[in-house]
Amino acid sequence: MNTHGNKCACMIGKFARGRMHFTVLCAAALTLVLISGGCGGGAPDVLAVDSGVTRDYLVKCAGGYLLIDTGYEKHYDDFLAGLGRLGIAPGQVRWVLLTHHHDDHSGFAGRLLRESGASLIVHEKAYPFLAQGKPELLMKPLNWCTEAAFTVFAALFKKDKDHGFPPVPRRANDRIVKGDDGELLKSLGVNGTILHTPGHTDDSISVVLANGSAFVGDCAMDMLAACACAHRPIYANDYAQVYESWKKLVSGGAKMIYPSHGGAFGAGELESTMRDKPL
Ligand SMILES: [Zn+2]
Repeated sequence: MNTHGNKCACMIGKFARGRMHFTVLCAAALTLVLISGGCGGGAPDVLAVDSGVTRDYLVKCAGGYLLIDTGYEKHYDDFLAGLGRLGIAPGQVRWVLLTHHHDDHSGFAGRLLRESGASLIVHEKAYPFLAQGKPELLMKPLNWCTEAAFTVFAALFKKDKDHGFPPVPRRANDRIVKGDDGELLKSLGVNGTILHTPGHTDDSISVVLANGSAFVGDCAMDMLAACACAHRPIYANDYAQVYESWKKLVSGGAKMIYPSHGGAFGAGELESTMRDKPL
């Protein structure tokens, strides 16, 4: 992921003659990043499946696996193929935790829940959007560069401009997160904590394992370095809240950040961004 970003930065220095060049180059970088699904990285014991532009993570739990996030509806077969390459059957997915309700995280969640028999874990604020299959549309771009890049991506790859997705109906065995939760994961056999990490969306949650691995959804990203993102989400409801959530992640024991878009990076990079790019 950084490779694409650094290439873009070099190209900008060499070729950019104005804003239009910059926009096109960064849009191209985003396209490459999104198509490739990131460059991976991180501890070898972290299991991940790329479903289109989203990286889904698997954590062992009692009786199987906890899956963190799904992907766009159309990437369900890609996900199953990736799961198969890890030697994991869909029925071994016992829990599906959605870090937030966006279509690139919940797209095939409903289908997977039906077909695997898994149960859902979400923040209570995700429910209205999951039930309707429609996202909250309050987000603002980080800057004009991320706005341009995302606009190009949406024009090229998104048929549904409203970012709708198949509804995920509420079910009796869902586990609802209302804030920070130090007990839920432990009850499933996972040594970790769920933290409410709003900012990208109000319903954003993260998983922080006792070993410091933190699965943060879109609370942080590793993309578009040429847009000076520095791990900030390319869109968010509230960037000040994002920084507060980053502080919570660090104080909550996060050592290695595993974002849904891009490769893993050290939690110290969150601290350096907050220091170097105050809001
Ligand atoms: Zn998102």
